Amino acid sequence: MEIKCECGNFRANLRAFPENTPGRLVCYCDDCQAYLQHIDRIDLLDENGGTEVIPAYPADVDIVCGLEHLKCTQLSAKGILRFSTSCCNTPIVNTKVGEPWAGFLRCSYGFQNTQELDQKLGPVRSRIMGKYAKGNPPAGTPKKFNLRAFLTVIPFMLKGRIFGKSKPSPFFEPDGLTPVVIPQIVK
Ligand SMILES: [Zn+2]
Ligand SMILES: [Zn+2]
Repeated sequence: MEIKCECGNFRANLRAFPENTPGRLVCYCDDCQAYLQHIDRIDLLDENGGTEVIPAYPADVDIVCGLEHLKCTQLSAKGILRFSTSCCNTPIVNTKVGEPWAGFLRCSYGFQNTQELDQKLGPVRSRIMGKYAKGNPPAGTPKKFNLRAFLTVIPFMLKGRIFGKSKPSPFFEPDGLTPVVIPQIVK
């Protein structure tokens, strides 16, 4: 599966897709909203302020080109690392030191259209943090998390830990700790 920014300068490949993804998740949390606001991409939020993410394992990601276009934002000093591109301001992925989690935003996937996305992955599997949603999110969205969200994500995380899928990550230096781009901390 190809990951790319809107202009195509940044490209990465996901090995093991769609086997190694828990599927489509939507997060309504205030941080995800604040981030897209910060980089001036609220056009990517859904009508309830949700951000759609399709996670993969960092070890399954190969950056093909455009590493020099990546920039990294942290909303706070301990916040998760959010990578976007400087060429065309596309948010690409959210990740964290040592976690088998690379949350690629839906807009970074090279799907031709929504039909192809639906065919490959089916509908959104879980929605979380509904207490921050604007208006009324789809029925069944929990205020924070629910069993369904845990059942979607926990097997993915466990398998990721067992098989050591947090590294190598193309978003960190070989030490696994230092981001490949110096993060800009918002506050
Ligand atoms: Zn670009
Ligand atoms: Zn969020």
